[in-house]
Amino acid sequence: MTGPGDAGMDRYARQVRFAAFGAEGQSRLSAATAAIVGVGALGCVSANHLARAGIGRLILIDRDVVETTNLHRQLLYDETDAASGIPKAVAAARRLASINGGVAYKPHAVDLNAGNIETLLQGADVVLDGTDSFGVRYLLNEWSAKHGKPWIYGAAVGSSGMTMTIRPGTGGPCLRCLFPEPPGAGALDTCETAGVLGPIVDLVASVQSMEAIKLLGGREDALHGALLQTDLWHTGWQQLQIGGARRPDCPVCAARRFELLEGEGAEPLTASLCGRRTVQVSPASDTEIDLGRLAARWTQLGIVELHDYLLRLRRPDGLVFALFPDGRALVSGTDDPLTARRLYAELLGE
Ligand SMILES: [Zn+2]
Repeated sequence: MTGPGDAGMDRYARQVRFAAFGAEGQSRLSAATAAIVGVGALGCVSANHLARAGIGRLILIDRDVVETTNLHRQLLYDETDAASGIPKAVAAARRLASINGGVAYKPHAVDLNAGNIETLLQGADVVLDGTDSFGVRYLLNEWSAKHGKPWIYGAAVGSSGMTMTIRPGTGGPCLRCLFPEPPGAGALDTCETAGVLGPIVDLVASVQSMEAIKLLGGREDALHGALLQTDLWHTGWQQLQIGGARRPDCPVCAARRFELLEGEGAEPLTASLCGRRTVQVSPASDTEIDLGRLAARWTQLGIVELHDYLLRLRRPDGLVFALFPDGRALVSGTDDPLTARRLYAELLGE
């Protein structure tokens, strides 16, 4: 598919002229698929770069909706998106389609988990980390080791960030080799506790994007090969060489035990979303919901808004219930999982 203004390779003339990438890199990139998990601050930047660079297919996965507090750093969204509260994956795909219509976008407004990861990431040549969840990163790490596909870790908080490219089967470490245990709750600064300034996010995601362009363009020799850490307030870079960091006793890349992927840890039915008085409720089993039919049924209960991939009910008591077609819901206006589950049961008769 060719979009308007996409006159053959002319559009990419400036990047093809960069000799180390060249026409071969461009042609490989245009046949490649990348998945971006978490289209928040980091994911917006990497999705933007890969779409503009002319990747073939872009899978966009995000469980959340656009809010005003996202706008200072999440570059693909605007005030209209925040006012309508549409899913980030949908808003991102829409915006990117107007930037480069030649890319195939696959938006998914879902929570990536062991039950859907194989389907969602099918065909991905690389995965870029845009999540802030160590649980999701560990899951991605297992998927990557199982399928021999690379993924690019990235994190940014405050004014500092880090990134690393993980390539199974090349002798380097996986995420679990470097971080054998997930950090305990509250052990790490988050965007909620420490805040975050926009430019550090761009920097980390730009490094991730460049690594993806090298990988997909067939220039693995140019990858940085380190755990990069940087801070843009107390400006500095650290490049930790990780060539020898692979652990012979790593449960994932050495023993190939994929405990998360095989669902040995039960999925929680509720989860609080990083400090924004929102609880996510997941259905107990796979389900598919006709949002249009429910919308008609809820009109007496409050203000009902039906969007692509999302039905929202604004209740008189201040609780806002956003429901996705896969039965997942975000309940805003409370931190209490019980309140959220009770409302879920009331509205869906479960
Ligand atoms: Zn490992």
